[in-house]
Amino acid sequence: MSVMVPSKTPARITPGRQALDSALHQLGQAAEHLGLDDGLRTMLATPRRSLTVSVPVRREDGRMDVVQGFRVQHNVSRGPAKGGIRFHPGTDIHEVTALAMWMTWKCALVGIPYGGAKGGVAVDPAALTTRELERLTRRYVNEILPMIGPEKDIPAPDVGTDEQTMAWIMDTYSVNAGYAVPGVVTGKPMQLGGSLGRAGATSRGVQIAALSALGHAPEGVTVAVQGFGKVGALAAQYLADAGCKVVAVSDVTGAVYAPGGLDVAALRAHVADTGRVLGYRDADALGHDELFELDVDILVPAALEGVITEANAPRVRARLVVEGANGPTTPEADEILAANGTVVVPDILANAGGVIVSYLEWVQNMQACSWSEGEVGRRLRDLMESAYGEVKSTAAERGLTLRQAAHVIGVSRVAEAHQMRGLYP
Ligand code: GLU
Repeated sequence: MSVMVPSKTPARITPGRQALDSALHQLGQAAEHLGLDDGLRTMLATPRRSLTVSVPVRREDGRMDVVQGFRVQHNVSRGPAKGGIRFHPGTDIHEVTALAMWMTWKCALVGIPYGGAKGGVAVDPAALTTRELERLTRRYVNEILPMIGPEKDIPAPDVGTDEQTMAWIMDTYSVNAGYAVPGVVTGKPMQLGGSLGRAGATSRGVQIAALSALGHAPEGVTVAVQGFGKVGALAAQYLADAGCKVVAVSDVTGAVYAPGGLDVAALRAHVADTGRVLGYRDADALGHDELFELDVDILVPAALEGVITEANAPRVRARLVVEGANGPTTPEADEILAANGTVVVPDILANAGGVIVSYLEWVQNMQACSWSEGEVGRRLRDLMESAYGEVKSTAAERGLTLRQAAHVIGVSRVAEAHQMRGLYP
């Protein structure tokens, strides 16, 4: 029999807990600025619904593993909950709650009629076979089935999931419903009701946000991108296409650097072949952390939370940080960057392109129609540019950073929705 001995050292603060603390700090600042009352603050600080599930997975060798899964609906006052599903070994309920909260402000900020949600499964998808991944996805979806639906909560891809994952989710939900329900997820393959332009939407939005914040012609502007995955690789490509010089990119294995500019298309082909940026022949290898300290114009963190911290923020030399990831900058780092004159285009604005085109996909699904890539692209650009304009002018009028202004706008819209609907009963 084992005896529980109370530990003398305090419990380790997980990255997820840190992300939630950051999200709560940002909400607290916005609530203070808006003068929200305590009841409303508490309501906005706590998720509306939160589910933790144990997901049994049959492995290829016959063993059964059990992994933790989560789905959190932070807020549903402005419409159905919306947000991705993350497969990552480090995810936990705190991280998923933070990510759901950021989705709430993001959707309100860009003016799409959704609340915020997020899902997660604490698993490394690269360690599973495709069949194991399919069984895991279907079983996880079954466990959260009562929460999701096209009018209730609409998942989408996030870190570690893709359009194949979305196809399995759509199928699992539809088989249970007895008919095809494309609108239950976004980021689907085209054949199942996906939208043209969804795959590169987050990256396209990052490009639009970066060029808006730059305020001048992009020719020769230098860029470093941390994370060369779904968001980072295409953000690098689109920025290069616009005339920027992408000089460094990193992934989990390391970073590559070419002061004269990387050929992003050739690098993407190298990554498609080898699975990593290291080994790309026309560049030097660089330590992963050195990328943050490069003398570039634009730094794009495009992977996970909490990578720009008080430890490395003093050495960030970029004059613009454009957040492709959710929550990459801690509040302490934010203050250091602001004091050093670095402008941060915050996640809930910079990476909103993904959920904007998710919304466009869902609208097409609900109307059983499909729009051209040009139509989708125009609507994405309009929504991104008008959100950027609102954030920029709110920041200037109220003396706020872009992140504070974005939160003030997002939080105030959700608070107004609550106040107008009133409290039932
Ligand atoms: N996972 C993406 C995000 O964090 C997209 C969410 C969505 O399309 O619903 O914004």
